[in-house]
Amino acid sequence: MSLETPKYKRILLKISGEALAGDQKTGLDFPTLHSVAEAVGSCVKTGAQIGIVVGGGNFWRGVKNGEGKLERTRSDYMGMLATAMNGLAVCDVLEQHGIPAVVQTALDISRAAEPFDRTRAVRYLEEGRVVIFSCGSGCPYFSTDTAAALRAAEIGADAILLAKNIDGVYDADPAKVPTAKKFDRISYDEVLARGLGVMDATATALAMDNHIPVLVFALKDPANIKRVLLGERIGTYVGTDV
Ligand code: UDP
Repeated sequence: MSLETPKYKRILLKISGEALAGDQKTGLDFPTLHSVAEAVGSCVKTGAQIGIVVGGGNFWRGVKNGEGKLERTRSDYMGMLATAMNGLAVCDVLEQHGIPAVVQTALDISRAAEPFDRTRAVRYLEEGRVVIFSCGSGCPYFSTDTAAALRAAEIGADAILLAKNIDGVYDADPAKVPTAKKFDRISYDEVLARGLGVMDATATALAMDNHIPVLVFALKDPANIKRVLLGERIGTYVGTDV
């Protein structure tokens, strides 16, 4: 155990699929996976319990890749299976770093990974294992951001750490609007009222209803994960008490 005290005892870390692709945008970038594993390992050493929801956008997104070509729910199931590939890869690389980890999936692919089971997941977390939740919510028409809010509520996480390709919540897309302003803190209500695209409205509402703060930051420097865990003010804090 390290001498550093985590601000949050149990966290749900959401890693988008695209973030796992590094600069390539698609597939898996192993140097990125290794630096994420290193960062997660340093978080585990603080005694924090870590659940991870992985996205699948580096392989397939239901609407973006399938719209007009495939029936929506089928396309969404493909997206969920993409998250399973990412989950297995993240688990493997964590184990390569000596970090005990397990994958649970919302869709039944039990030869590849365990089916999601909340009680077991919590027990693993208490034992110090990292639990990776794949296949999102198991339902089409949802996103992995919403699955992150759902799993966070189910496991009783103290915070959702949203590791993105962007370093926080802005009032406009900084890629398109150079004067876009980043928020240090913002309420769920304002995120919803302004229609800010940091995460979808369903995910924001679920986090709000269950009083789970959401910390949005850039995964580009994976050491940010631990900085946020220790309470350093980087990125954007989304909550009620702003
Ligand atoms: N998906 C779904 N239900 C869920 C989570 C994900 O149908 O509960 C599908 C959906 O098609 C989505 C894809 O899986 O586009 C990949 O997830 P997401 O786009 O959230 O991944 P990310 O953008 O975080 O990489």
